[in-house]
Amino acid sequence: MAAQNGIWRPEIETMDRGDLDALSEERIRYTVRYAEEHSRFYRHWFASHGVRASDIRTHEDLLELPILSGRTIRASQPPETAEFGFLSAPLEEIFTIHETSGTTGVPKAFFLMWEDWGRYAEKYARAFASQGLGHGDRLVVCTSYGMNVGGNTMTLAARRLRMTIIPTGKCTFPIRVITSYRPTAIVGSVFKLLRLADRLEAEGIDPRESGLLRLIVGGEAFAEEARAHLVERYGCPVYNTYGSTEGTMCGECREQNGLHVPEDLVHLDLYDPDLREFVPDGRQGRIVLSHLLPVGERSGMVLLNYDSEDVTTIVSRERCACGRTHLRIRPPGRESDIVQIGHAHLDRIEIERGVFAPENLAELNGEYEAFLYAEGDRGAVLRIGLECRHSPACDREGISERILHTLLSNNRALASAYASGEFRVVFSFTGPGGLELHQIKGRPKRLVDRR
Ligand SMILES: [Zn+2]
Repeated sequence: MAAQNGIWRPEIETMDRGDLDALSEERIRYTVRYAEEHSRFYRHWFASHGVRASDIRTHEDLLELPILSGRTIRASQPPETAEFGFLSAPLEEIFTIHETSGTTGVPKAFFLMWEDWGRYAEKYARAFASQGLGHGDRLVVCTSYGMNVGGNTMTLAARRLRMTIIPTGKCTFPIRVITSYRPTAIVGSVFKLLRLADRLEAEGIDPRESGLLRLIVGGEAFAEEARAHLVERYGCPVYNTYGSTEGTMCGECREQNGLHVPEDLVHLDLYDPDLREFVPDGRQGRIVLSHLLPVGERSGMVLLNYDSEDVTTIVSRERCACGRTHLRIRPPGRESDIVQIGHAHLDRIEIERGVFAPENLAELNGEYEAFLYAEGDRGAVLRIGLECRHSPACDREGISERILHTLLSNNRALASAYASGEFRVVFSFTGPGGLELHQIKGRPKRLVDRR
């Protein structure tokens, strides 16, 4: 069998559900005890909530513990406190220190030991293997190598799989990287990969003839229509991954029916919007995660019951056609990508679905941004900005109609707000590079509530 049918760690990844749950609960007990013994924050937190680490035995017991958020981390680090409360190993045992870019306030600090890196790399190695990557592949990593763990995690994972890495750290690399080194795969965001396809074509290279065998999209949720478009442009499969400095690293296998969660290393619960109860499988919920340490291992910073502010749905806990038993989730979306309009909710992805409809992309370059403004007492107006491929020659009316139709036909509550006049949509068009988001550094927010 070639690398056990592409399964990196078969004894763990194909473990029977009962054994997997038992392993997970053993690690919950160990990790909770480790957190209490090694971190000032957890010691205090358990004591102040009248919880003894030994009371937490199963994942249901995690319901007894309050939920942590990014705010909790910020409140437990300088300048709020003298020490880093979450630090769970002596500072001299820490290998790297990271910060996550918060949109507001001081960034959250993350401390990683070499053992943490090992587990991060393990998770990515499994995902890469499940997507068919392995020895002989050359992977361009467009993900950044900065204070974010992404690029480095993938590089360490590649070493395990004996792959070659081309660490560009961004997708604006010269086209010769493709023509000279003939990479077989690229990791990047949908929009970076789109722009790269445009650049390849501008230099007379058909992305389908570029030698790329697969693309891996990470870092943000995207519409299935966007994936279909990339598949069409590059003529190869496009896989989804979900990762963060907080330690979630889930990857879609070749079956493309949900992202496998590495259940032996991270425990994931889905909560209702009030963060009180678990939601049943099949219902959308908020991802609350807990790290799982193998018994005897250490960590620079443990997260227990941590609110990721991302939402997803469990696809299945049954064995996948790929042979893996680890549960599968839908591509997670960001809570901050969802706005409320009256009784309706609108997710950024719903706008993206319309933009990436094939007939629209014949004339649009895929870039979009949307701003929501208040109108009158209760009303709202959504302004969607789009870039025409060859401005100003764009069928503006046709594109507007189709996007509006996609939006309203898939969202009944929004359609009723539209029918009653409480919700309007206005479209504007510009040439390539004309949207506001190009002025912003970092990853742009494409749906902004300006009410
Ligand atoms: Zn699978």
